[in-house]
Amino acid sequence: MALDPGTLSQLLDAIRRFVDERLIPAEAEVAETDAIPAAIVAEMRELGLFGLTAPEEYGGLGLVMEEEVLAIFELGRAAPAFRSMFATNVSIGMQGIAIDGTAEQKAKYLPGLASGEIIGSFALTEPDVGSDAGSVKTTARRDGDVYVLNGTKRFITNAPHAGLFTVMARTDPAQKGAAGVSAFAVERGTPGLTTGKPEKKMGQQGAHVCDVIFDDCRVPASALIGGVEGQGFKTAMKVLDKGRLHIAAACVGLAERILDDMLAYAVGRRQFGRPLADFQLLQAMFADSKADAYAARCMVLDAARKRDAGQDVSVEASCAKMFASEAVGRIADRNVQVHGGNGYIREYRAEQLYRDARLFRIYEGTTQIQQIIIAKALTAEARGRAGL
Ligand SMILES: Cc1cc2nc3c(=O)[nH]c(=O)nc-3n(C[C@H](O)[C@H](O)[C@H](O)COP(=O)(O)OP(=O)(O)OC[C@H]3O[C@@H](n4cnc5c(N)ncnc54)[C@H](O)[C@@H]3O)c2cc1C
Repeated sequence: MALDPGTLSQLLDAIRRFVDERLIPAEAEVAETDAIPAAIVAEMRELGLFGLTAPEEYGGLGLVMEEEVLAIFELGRAAPAFRSMFATNVSIGMQGIAIDGTAEQKAKYLPGLASGEIIGSFALTEPDVGSDAGSVKTTARRDGDVYVLNGTKRFITNAPHAGLFTVMARTDPAQKGAAGVSAFAVERGTPGLTTGKPEKKMGQQGAHVCDVIFDDCRVPASALIGGVEGQGFKTAMKVLDKGRLHIAAACVGLAERILDDMLAYAVGRRQFGRPLADFQLLQAMFADSKADAYAARCMVLDAARKRDAGQDVSVEASCAKMFASEAVGRIADRNVQVHGGNGYIREYRAEQLYRDARLFRIYEGTTQIQQIIIAKALTAEARGRAGL
């Protein structure tokens, strides 16, 4: 662990208070205005949220995976748009450089990412390249001391605010698959890089995504992450293994919060002269939701501990992401049901959290892609055992 038990518990207490006193009360305003108040972003910086996982030598807290998921369990209890604000820095927007960057790249970017002065985005998806992420079409052609980038990245979280993009682009057009892809650290302001209009989304108002367009965008050769071509897809997969555990932890936090909301409503509202909580058909929903949330929490913690112990957890990360994102979807749906008509009305958080939770099953690999990853590993092992 990076922190001693006392410091970790203080950090988790401070985050819990911040979530309860500042984030949850601001949810309605954020949903309405589609923006997180600047004062809250400043408090996130003060709390060190942008640098939770950045190495200490670069100004971060250097949390290991278990500590990170414990922090995200707490932060995940607020509407997910809040987490999105700093989480690309903690997770996919920073980890490419933190894991595979050169010493110069780390020194140049990690302090700004850790403090939140720079917002980082992770740009893998393209208009025609989603689940089949190894087929990246954006090109990076070497021209002397620079690479020239051309292509469009789609649905890039925090792109409207980002100062730095981790961009996966094809450096070897002869290699059609993942082996021809490299990763680049590209700064906003580089001529030829523009961002599109923020998309109007189903939920998570306050978190913003848009296209990132490269039109003969010339970046110095030193922007190649790790300094070696052809490693970009591997970098992206390392980032996503960690990112999936982070997302799964966010799902656990939200699942536990929604269950609390469900119970609070059910003990308060009366029908047939009794609280809703007395009706056994609803009690089954509470029990199923508790079991879902508890199972998801256990999976995330187990996978995080295994990762910290140096094990390859790509299967466990996929299991955790798949299960936790599906579980929070089920719980959010039950919560709407327990709220009855009020569950469909915007004034109550139930309908917002139902829409917010839907994204977790889609990004950082859909449920189907997690199933494919898990099944591929299992069948390879079975073939190995059978000597086939
Ligand atoms: C709000 C939001 C934020 C996002 N943030 C980012 C970001 O920061 N960076 C980034 O790079 N991307 C981001 N994404 C993109 C996201 O990761 C992709 O949308 C996701 O990976 C799915 O890709 P796709 O949309 O192209 O769907 P497709 O790949 O077209 O898939 C469509 C459907 O087909 C299924 N499918 C596809 N292939 C198979 C198969 N072989 N077998 C079975 N089923 C299959 C999928 O599961 C899905 O149900 C974001 C997306 C959204 C909506």
